[in-house]
Amino acid sequence: MALLNSIDRRAFLKALGSAGAAGALAPGQLLADAGESSSAWQNWSGNQTANPEQMAFPRNDDELRQAMSGSTGTLRAFGGSHSFSGVVPTDNTLISLEAMAGLKHQDGDLFTWGAGTRLGMASAQAWSQGHSFTNEPDINLQSLAGAIATSTHGTGRQLTSLSGQVEALTLMLPDGESLSLTEKDGDPFLAACCSLGALGIVTDLTFRHQPAYRLKEHTWTLPLREAMAFVEREKDNYRHIEFFAFPLGNQAIVKTMEITDDPQDSPPREDDNELLELICKVAMHAGWLTPSLQKLVTLFVEDSTFTAPSNVVYGNRRTVRFNEMEYTVPADDGMACLEEVCDTLRKEDINVFFPIEFRYVGEDNRLLSMYHERAGASLSIHQYFAQDYEQVFKPVEPILRKYQGRPHWGKLHNLARRELAELYPAFDRFQAVRRELDPQGRMLNPHLMRLFT
Ligand SMILES: Cc1cc2nc3c(=O)[nH]c(=O)nc-3n(C[C@H](O)[C@H](O)[C@H](O)COP(=O)(O)OP(=O)(O)OC[C@H]3O[C@@H](n4cnc5c(N)ncnc54)[C@H](O)[C@@H]3O)c2cc1C
Repeated sequence: MALLNSIDRRAFLKALGSAGAAGALAPGQLLADAGESSSAWQNWSGNQTANPEQMAFPRNDDELRQAMSGSTGTLRAFGGSHSFSGVVPTDNTLISLEAMAGLKHQDGDLFTWGAGTRLGMASAQAWSQGHSFTNEPDINLQSLAGAIATSTHGTGRQLTSLSGQVEALTLMLPDGESLSLTEKDGDPFLAACCSLGALGIVTDLTFRHQPAYRLKEHTWTLPLREAMAFVEREKDNYRHIEFFAFPLGNQAIVKTMEITDDPQDSPPREDDNELLELICKVAMHAGWLTPSLQKLVTLFVEDSTFTAPSNVVYGNRRTVRFNEMEYTVPADDGMACLEEVCDTLRKEDINVFFPIEFRYVGEDNRLLSMYHERAGASLSIHQYFAQDYEQVFKPVEPILRKYQGRPHWGKLHNLARRELAELYPAFDRFQAVRRELDPQGRMLNPHLMRLFT
């Protein structure tokens, strides 16, 4: 969330001081809330860890084949480790394709990337060669394979997730066999474009890029109700539109992005992560202030624009850690669902400072995509990483489910196979591909077993 990009830092701190928030805390309370992990692997937020028997960083297909077919037990791949759910951890073998990253081949607007390439690197390199991704999420530290494994998405009614932008891929199966797949291959391809790493390890990915384009981002605040009405009314009039709802402060930050001919780059975005961290700590220790803090934030977010190459505008810098739950409901039900979620957070007086991010995403045909044959509205609920996320996610999840919400595979949820099979119409088709490609279930860790067995 670029939610504090345009905050007037000094004005905010002054207001915070006059609200007495900083003084209400014991000395040192604002300093050390984060515990460091001694695990061999941990994810971005620190809620998932692993100490596998083996970690492999193959440099080529042969070394990867050896790591897969020459090992026993569970095999899992990791990319940027930016997933919140338990999709990565295993006690056996963890594999990273970081050493096989980079551009492998280009043919016109078709770019083939090593699957471990980070999105930020790929989009910067594509830009330097006159191309852009059609759409991107709001950070770009994910690997391409990790991002498509969970249908990672940005915002835009007519734009699909990254899974929907894949034209071809190569998949290495647990026994070391490599499959080259395109749409012509039917279900194996449609399954592999969003697979949670349950079929094997993707080694390269081909995306169809667009001619390079520049974006103008516009950010401003509105009272929450007005923001909801605006986004509902304007959803088809912008290439990208989204908002961040602060239910306790009844405010919102609205963001739109449009392609622009303006050749002038804006100065780099100001980074206010430190200030956000401070606010989160104050809210965590002084929950009664959270509604006021939510009001203050929006009070000091200036109406601003930011113009730059597409890859620069999409990629925000996030250093304040949080945990996240996200469900995608049918696009037309998004606002009603958000209304209920906000009511519940207010009624139950739940201490959560981070806003709810609301985005639209276009439908696709990937078997396990949250947008499979259904355009969606995604509601992302965040909690500061050092705070208990269950107190927020527990009351909210039944509401998201009531609206037939489909959970984001990389984010926290409590669903298992039976519920998922009802929500994802092509779940059984995915399962058939999975059983065929990984008959021994080597790609299944405990989390995936809950989802698929
Ligand atoms: C700060 C932050 C911002 C985020 N913003 C967004 C957003 O805007 N939109 C959104 O949709 N999500 C967002 N996410 C979630 C994130 O995009 C997804 O969880 C994504 O899957 C993470 O990619 P990764 O490379 O870190 O993969 P990891 O988390 O390392 O792995 C994710 C999955 O990919 C599999 N995998 C990795 N590499 C391979 C491979 N080579 N072959 C097969 N499987 C593989 C793993 O086994 C696992 O199942 C955000 C997360 C964070 C922490």
